[in-house]
Amino acid sequence: MSRIVYVNGEFLPEDAACLSVFDRGVLFADAVYEVTAVVDGGMVDFEAHQQRLCRSLAELGIDFDPRAAGLLKLHRELIRRNALNEGLVYLQVSRGVADRSFLQPTTCQPSVVLFTQAQSLLETAATGTGLRVITQPDLRWHRRDIKTTQLLYPSMMKTLAVEQGADDVWMVEGGTVTEGSSSNAHIIRADGALVTRPTSPDILHGITRAAVLDYSRETGAAVIERPFTVAEAQQAREAFITSATAFVTPVVAVDGVAIGDGRPGPATHRIRSHYIQRSRERLQY
Ligand code: PLP
Repeated sequence: MSRIVYVNGEFLPEDAACLSVFDRGVLFADAVYEVTAVVDGGMVDFEAHQQRLCRSLAELGIDFDPRAAGLLKLHRELIRRNALNEGLVYLQVSRGVADRSFLQPTTCQPSVVLFTQAQSLLETAATGTGLRVITQPDLRWHRRDIKTTQLLYPSMMKTLAVEQGADDVWMVEGGTVTEGSSSNAHIIRADGALVTRPTSPDILHGITRAAVLDYSRETGAAVIERPFTVAEAQQAREAFITSATAFVTPVVAVDGVAIGDGRPGPATHRIRSHYIQRSRERLQY
């Protein structure tokens, strides 16, 4: 069955949906996006995603008001039309269509695209096995806090990791881990403290990361926001990634060195379970 997607005011079968070849998202990656998880047919942390979208748009000077555009209603309608129970809604807003020029046009109308993707989020193989990551230099631009569609390098690195028999990459800059190809990276030290890189232009300010840090602080765990090295990760008791669709997923090896006993750890399991429970209690329909 073909999906129904949303493009610039219309709900269309995916085969009939199209964007102009002159769209600045196509030519310059002049576009921002959000991915919202859907569980039990409801959305996880929709409001936080909308706030980050507003920030990304403002940083790029794209004149688009998500609230005026009724994005919540569009998400709901797309979930309904595709009978989506579990998976994600992808939303992209580009600056719009204009003749190709490095000078950003001021008059074009932003393009808006939404689609759904059905996939298992609650039960995944990686939750049981954990992920093996390799490290690679972080060669992305230095405004990683803006969620743009400029994803070529992380896509190349994810592909490289899989070609080398691993699951994903952790990128490294100045001797410390920045983040995964599409996730934030965290470790749990031998003393139980959660160590994670602080928010800055170096990383995307993950919505899942923020929720997990709140929870960890509520439970009285020490949360230390500072960069950590690859060696620290390899000596950690546990390690995990967070993202809207991976939730909290254990990492069991970094560059072939096992973390702890090489199996997903209990603290990561606890954090994942709590994250899922809390998300399910607050789903937005
Ligand atoms: N870091 C990067 C580079 C990402 O692409 C993502 C998600 O796509 C994240 C972190 C996690 O962010 P969130 O938890 O908001 O999905």
